[in-house]
Amino acid sequence: MNKPELLIPAGNLEKLDTAVLYGADAVYVGVAGLSLRAQSAEMTPADLAEGIKKAHAQNVKVYGAANTFARNADLAKAGEIIPQLAEGGIDAIIVSDPGMISLIQKSAPQLPIHLSTQANTTNSQSVRFWRDQGVRRIVLSRELSLKEVSEIARTVPGVELEVFVHGAMCVSYSGRCYLSAYFNRRSANEGDCSQPCRWEYRLYESTRPHDPLIYEEDGRYSYLLSSRDLCLLEYLPEILSAGVASLKIEGRMKSSYYIATVTRAYRQALDQLTQNPENYRCNPLWLNELQKVSNRGYTTGFAFASEKITATSPDIKYQQSHEPAGVVLQYDSVNKRILLSSKNHLTAGEEMELLLPRDTVKIKTAAMIDMNGNKISEAHGGDCVYLPFNDDVPAGALLRKATGKKLK
Ligand code: SF4
Repeated sequence: MNKPELLIPAGNLEKLDTAVLYGADAVYVGVAGLSLRAQSAEMTPADLAEGIKKAHAQNVKVYGAANTFARNADLAKAGEIIPQLAEGGIDAIIVSDPGMISLIQKSAPQLPIHLSTQANTTNSQSVRFWRDQGVRRIVLSRELSLKEVSEIARTVPGVELEVFVHGAMCVSYSGRCYLSAYFNRRSANEGDCSQPCRWEYRLYESTRPHDPLIYEEDGRYSYLLSSRDLCLLEYLPEILSAGVASLKIEGRMKSSYYIATVTRAYRQALDQLTQNPENYRCNPLWLNELQKVSNRGYTTGFAFASEKITATSPDIKYQQSHEPAGVVLQYDSVNKRILLSSKNHLTAGEEMELLLPRDTVKIKTAAMIDMNGNKISEAHGGDCVYLPFNDDVPAGALLRKATGKKLK
């Protein structure tokens, strides 16, 4: 069975480490000043060089996103940075602009090019066109059904196809949207979306400005513009049958905890499916894991209905059953304990879960010890504490705790 790569977002070096630890085959990172993400989710050339070394040491590929809609002023910067990235060993560059493609082909001809989903590739003829321009891989539009993806894979050989399987959805065509720029002067097309499509909207008739027409979804508001998040974990057999090369998780702005949980769930599913396809069943525990990270309710998006509008969600507030508790800095094998950097308020007696790459282990914090060796009853975000634990734990492993909130 064809085994596609699992491609994970890495907004910074810490998230790259997390993605690698929890099972990524490849990561994508924003190239500073050239990607469609805010600066907080981009890497500087120095961080990128370090990230490439770290990832390659674990046989994980690194793709650099330079998918900005380039203006003339961006070209000089791109012409300078791209050859450096090629020399630094980056595995491919993700672009959306034909001018950038031509620039890369001249300045770093050996560098594989992936066409970003921002290019809105939706049909076989477009895929053929980009392939003939020398593009190695196409990130297909999220708006395609699996049937369409499969048709493209069957009819256009010699090009890799990548599809989104998990993460936030836009209600515009793959991010081509000016809501955020209009409301907040933060342009989605420059990677800085403030997500106003998630806000609460009312409908007014023009002569009755004080009399809103309530288009109810939950008794208060309508969420006409707000999409649930994409989740195709249950449909991996269908996706693999479609013949894609790469399964992409969305979310360079998401937390390390989110990256760890989602990567691990898809890694386990993908491994089991490819090792034993005849007896494969989607494990409900994997789906349950996806409820433990921030989400807006899940949808299969356009995967099974080519013209269906993505479901909107009355659960306007983000929800999650668990939240980050801390990250393991090191394992002290002499004293059999974990050194933890707390990411939250922790109290003695509280139960936490340690996320190992292939397993989850419950830990009680009754015996938290501070750096001076004192037993403590609570710790705050940023504190370093020891927790007893008998087995070796990799640095970078994450801990979580229940939020105590009931999911809708
Ligand atoms: S406002 Fe919503 S639809 Fe528009 S780009 Fe941002 S997330 Fe996408």
